[in-house]
Amino acid sequence: MAGLYLHIPFCKQACHYCDFHFSTNLRSKTDLVIAMVKEIEGQKQFFGTKHLNSIYFGGGTPSLLTVSELGMLFDSFQKHFTWDHSCEISLEANPDDIDKSKLKAWINFGINRLSIGLQSFNDAELQWMNRAHNAIESESAVKMSQDAGIENISIDLIYGTKFQNLSNWESTLKKAIDLNCAHVSAYNLTIEGKTKLHHLLINGAEPEVDEHLSSKQFERLVERFAEAGLEQYEISNFAKAGKIAVHNSSYWFQKPYLGIGPSAHSYHEKLRQWNVKSNALYIQQITKGEKHFEIENLSDKDLYNEFILTRLRTKWGVDEKDLLARFGEDALKHFKKGIAPYGNHLNYSSGVYQLNAAGKLLADKMASDLFLDE
Ligand code: SF4
Repeated sequence: MAGLYLHIPFCKQACHYCDFHFSTNLRSKTDLVIAMVKEIEGQKQFFGTKHLNSIYFGGGTPSLLTVSELGMLFDSFQKHFTWDHSCEISLEANPDDIDKSKLKAWINFGINRLSIGLQSFNDAELQWMNRAHNAIESESAVKMSQDAGIENISIDLIYGTKFQNLSNWESTLKKAIDLNCAHVSAYNLTIEGKTKLHHLLINGAEPEVDEHLSSKQFERLVERFAEAGLEQYEISNFAKAGKIAVHNSSYWFQKPYLGIGPSAHSYHEKLRQWNVKSNALYIQQITKGEKHFEIENLSDKDLYNEFILTRLRTKWGVDEKDLLARFGEDALKHFKKGIAPYGNHLNYSSGVYQLNAAGKLLADKMASDLFLDE
């Protein structure tokens, strides 16, 4: 299993909650794609296999790429990698970028999964987020993509904003279910430092997230999606049968992935590397053949902590035998001692610990209590 991630660091405008790496200056987009093609050439042996199980265009806003920019990237994949019809090829798209001709081009390239940044069905809320689309565009983008023949569509939702209450959240969930998508990612609003929302919060112009309401919304989300046949396979991710995200799952299962583009991370066995964040510096360093990334050798403690953090969040949970085989008896003892106080938040069966509904609300705290210290 190996995955390729392409970070496309451009957006039309800055969403007020977003702390991803992107620029709203699109002038260097083609130069950056040319640099990414060079980076692929230089990193093609990163994971020792040419065969890909997933290709993921994330960002930023990959739906801003022109057909010729996407073509340069696919030409490069074809030169250096192999994949077959089972490969998941995903592209993150914003509703306002989706039209019939782009959909046709994406399908011709072999893109077989769209992740549409829908976020909300409320125009006032979308404006408050500073999204570039309205609610009508959101719904029509999903329908247009379905009509074009893309079956594997994921939509993103955000909950916990000041616009929401349990009643309008129920309407949002119903609308999301009625769109009949294969996959939904639903995220609790977190106000990250250095975002516009954080600036407004510390100046008293925005309220804190109401965590009590968010917890209630999360419970409704899980219930309604379960009734609709969307399985919660990770805390924030829900899928119909057979539509679990292949690429994102590789992060939770410690499978190797190569990240291309500014700020992209790569992982293989005990090695993690991450690219320079600045678009200008990335282009300059790649063009001059200079080093554009940092490397870290992961310790057993790092690998154990990552394993606990990611597995606890998934429906597969933490398997004692797997933990023992990977990290040894001392790590297993540490895990069992740390998990003991959380008996009411877990299901335990055949050596596997899985979070129950109450545990899912505490996943991050539980994981940090289970971490190995220096
Ligand atoms: S479009 Fe996506 S990446 Fe760009 S600012 Fe908005 S949330 Fe962030």
